[in-house]
Amino acid sequence: MPTRIHNFNAGPAALPLAVLEKAQAELVNFRGTGMSVMELSHRSKPFEAVRDEAESGLRQLLNIPDDYSVLFLQGGASLQFSMVPMNLYQMGRPVDMINTGVWSKKTMAELKKLGEYRVVASGEGSNFTQLPNLTNVGFNSNASYVHITSNNTIYGTQWRAFPNTGGVPLVADMSSDILSSPIDVTQFGLIYAGAQKNIGPSGVTIVIIRNDLADRASDSLPTMLQYRTHINDRSLYNTPPTFGIYMISLVTEWIQQNGGIHWITKATQDRADRLYATIDNSDLFYCPNALDSRSKMNVVFRSKTHDDTLESQFVKSAEAAGLVGLKGHRSAGGLRASVYNAQTDAAIDALCDFISSFKAS
Ligand code: PMP
Repeated sequence: MPTRIHNFNAGPAALPLAVLEKAQAELVNFRGTGMSVMELSHRSKPFEAVRDEAESGLRQLLNIPDDYSVLFLQGGASLQFSMVPMNLYQMGRPVDMINTGVWSKKTMAELKKLGEYRVVASGEGSNFTQLPNLTNVGFNSNASYVHITSNNTIYGTQWRAFPNTGGVPLVADMSSDILSSPIDVTQFGLIYAGAQKNIGPSGVTIVIIRNDLADRASDSLPTMLQYRTHINDRSLYNTPPTFGIYMISLVTEWIQQNGGIHWITKATQDRADRLYATIDNSDLFYCPNALDSRSKMNVVFRSKTHDDTLESQFVKSAEAAGLVGLKGHRSAGGLRASVYNAQTDAAIDALCDFISSFKAS
């Protein structure tokens, strides 16, 4: 039995051991086909079943209504920064943007190439340590859509509730917290997420789209970039990322077998709470984020004196102790523990102990 390390990577991230073991057991002979799932034709019956299981797993866990399609695409969440406006932007109707940091900014950079937007709320004033207050935001009833990033992976902030945008579709980048809490899908026009943090390996991107919104796209848009294409062909217009879709089917099955979305909600909240409590009690470290904005997926912390040397020392000694992936994102610095759905209690115990006992040398 090889040793599994405590993996706090931000994505690709830790996958459930039970899922990896099941994939391993089925790797060379998938369900009696005599071949690996990676060797199956994407048009074969056994693969169709895998695709359907991945879709129904997501549908059940997120309670996705029938008038929404679930798509398995490629190009990462980053392609969605362009694909969403290509399909949903309407001339003369600027997008309302909620800016919570790097990922929102990347969304805006792509949006600018295709249309206009206005920032209706921003956390920039707090250096993105606090989510903006949306209570008095005047959403534009003429907007093509409103865009929000549900969890900011880099700054470690996460929305607990989503705004009511009236008749204007709400589009959410849920790359770093999808499937970690129940959501009301009907509140959204479109949800997208790269799989590599909470639901599978990299290479597959989930899009959940209310079908009528796909009609907005012009026919002149390249076929592969139209949501319509993938809705009509059930993500089988071209060769989809078959192994990634298979892994999503296993991850959704694993969540269901363990108690479903409410189990994961509680488990992830408990783990984050323990970690924040340890950081809040630490003599050396603190969490820069406001209490009401803290993410339960990406726990960001810093040395109290912003001492880069001490932080590097922490990362190095943690690695030596079998805890990897604790360096903050290169654009934000500091430290970050990503504790997605598949994170283990043992890893949290080990990290809490490590933080409490760490001494600068
Ligand atoms: N959005 C968010 C919130 C992310 O965290 C990331 C990746 N870290 C992306 C988008 C970009 O995803 P990808 O690398 O799949 O394009």
